[in-house]
Amino acid sequence: METWGELLRRHYNYALGQRLDCLRRTRCQFDRCSIVSEPIGDIPEKVDYYSQASELKQTKELFPEYKNIYADCQQQNLMRLDKASKRWLIPDKNGKRGGRPRFKKRGDICSFTFPRVNCPKAGAHLIGNILKLSKIGEIKVILHRPIPDGFAIKQVTLVKKADGWYASFSLEDDTIPEPLPVDEVKSAVGIDVGLEKFLATSDGQAVKIPQFYRKSQQQLARQQRQLARMEKGSKNYQRQSNKVARLHLHVARQRKEFHYQVVHWLCEHYDLIAFENLNIKGLARTRLAKSILDAAWGSFLNILQAVAVKRGKWAIGDDPRGTSIECSGCGARVEKTLKDRVHNCPHCKLVIDRDWNSGINILNRVKQTLGLAFAGCGGYLDASPVRQQLSIAKLGSPFYTALRS
Ligand SMILES: [Zn+2]
Repeated sequence: METWGELLRRHYNYALGQRLDCLRRTRCQFDRCSIVSEPIGDIPEKVDYYSQASELKQTKELFPEYKNIYADCQQQNLMRLDKASKRWLIPDKNGKRGGRPRFKKRGDICSFTFPRVNCPKAGAHLIGNILKLSKIGEIKVILHRPIPDGFAIKQVTLVKKADGWYASFSLEDDTIPEPLPVDEVKSAVGIDVGLEKFLATSDGQAVKIPQFYRKSQQQLARQQRQLARMEKGSKNYQRQSNKVARLHLHVARQRKEFHYQVVHWLCEHYDLIAFENLNIKGLARTRLAKSILDAAWGSFLNILQAVAVKRGKWAIGDDPRGTSIECSGCGARVEKTLKDRVHNCPHCKLVIDRDWNSGINILNRVKQTLGLAFAGCGGYLDASPVRQQLSIAKLGSPFYTALRS
């Protein structure tokens, strides 16, 4: 499997080179010259997925070792490149484009895909806990959960990670989850993500940031120091670099698990979840970068939206401008710096936690755009000003027990 990964990596790099070369040679119109530089040679034919896939036959003749790779995997490899370069060249409906596809270094992620599973012409078959791959053989797999009923296995991707090989199956179910009708939304919540807490809800609850990365930072630093002392490329070096990679993997998994727990907790309790669309790239350039990237709100919000759709709930994003400045009680602007943790309104005498205040504002804005006029839980509706404290303790350690049970 490692040989396959390596061969496919080389082929990917070759195909990417072909594409970039073609672009360079055809950048300038054919009856004029570029001021900067001019590539020498013929103008190549247009390179796309089809032209590259039809050259696969030639590849196999020139490099016989490619004959040992299942043909569909090679096509999938080219399709992956095709997708990546289309994301780069063609902007999506928001006018955003992906980055330029990169050449893959030796030892970069090693994976390949079988596009069909368990059908007569498929190259991969899963029977019980045995995965049978064409040209590779039978492998015993550990199913971390049974294949759910009513799902068809579409494809399988084999990935090598620091702690072993993983097979990831894509399943398909034709039924579409029905979203809750808007007028049946009973409970709504606004969430504000912050640095002090992972998030604060509009009804005064908060989730702490677990700071997985910061916690393992010491351990990571120690392992990396040891790695730096070793001779590059030696057996010990390889073993140690695998240790570091495993540690990173562990942190990433902890983070993902935490995100899913919080998201399911939110979807369990609320029908509508309002959040702000943050400018994460902009924030990550500041001094707080490590904390921001550690919290990984971007992936959290992606998970939130995916889970919400799956469970038939609503997750709606809103423009974040001014949510922390506006008073949720009277709507006046109360200027504050990042240091001011408490919202103290001189107009209506409302004193609440700063993030709580933003959470309420976010909820109100989304409600306004949706035209919802229900009281719901959450939202600061009582007009009489009171001093209120965010109940972090409520979600501190009991939060986990509540989630786990
Ligand atoms: Zn006010």
